[in-house]
Amino acid sequence: MRRKITGIEAAKRFRWHIDEKTGCWICESGHTDKQGYRFMRIAGIRTRVHRLAYWVFNNKSPKGKVIRHTCDNRECINPNHLVAGTKRDNTQDMLERDRASDWNERRMLTEDRRRKLTTQQIKEIRCRPEGSYALARVYCVSAVQIRRIRNGSRCAGLLQVA
Ligand SMILES: [Zn+2]
Repeated sequence: MRRKITGIEAAKRFRWHIDEKTGCWICESGHTDKQGYRFMRIAGIRTRVHRLAYWVFNNKSPKGKVIRHTCDNRECINPNHLVAGTKRDNTQDMLERDRASDWNERRMLTEDRRRKLTTQQIKEIRCRPEGSYALARVYCVSAVQIRRIRNGSRCAGLLQVA
């Protein structure tokens, strides 16, 4: 007979660290599958940890439901970032998010043409350690623009000034 495990038993097996920026609980137990989800083998059954976390922390069965991440981090097991939905919701969500980021990027590219960064800003961008998306937000330009600046293709002329 297959032994049923309790939520407490399952919870004991979770190890995670908290991402201070996003509040995500990044699971360290188990392994990551091809889709980027964390999984563990519990009582002989391979299960994705975020589903397990949903069950353990909310005390609700995820059976027959899709457990989604509101934070988009597939290794996250913060119960506040997990919502139950249908398969359809999940796809809809992804489509909307994709569309939104696409639109943002396009809008930013249009604005780039209007907006000129100063030589000082360009120097800063080259020195700052943050990723292109983070900097794009700081300087209100597109991430493409930031990458271009870093590669030097945009301001060959400015190099002489610097
Ligand atoms: Zn999260």
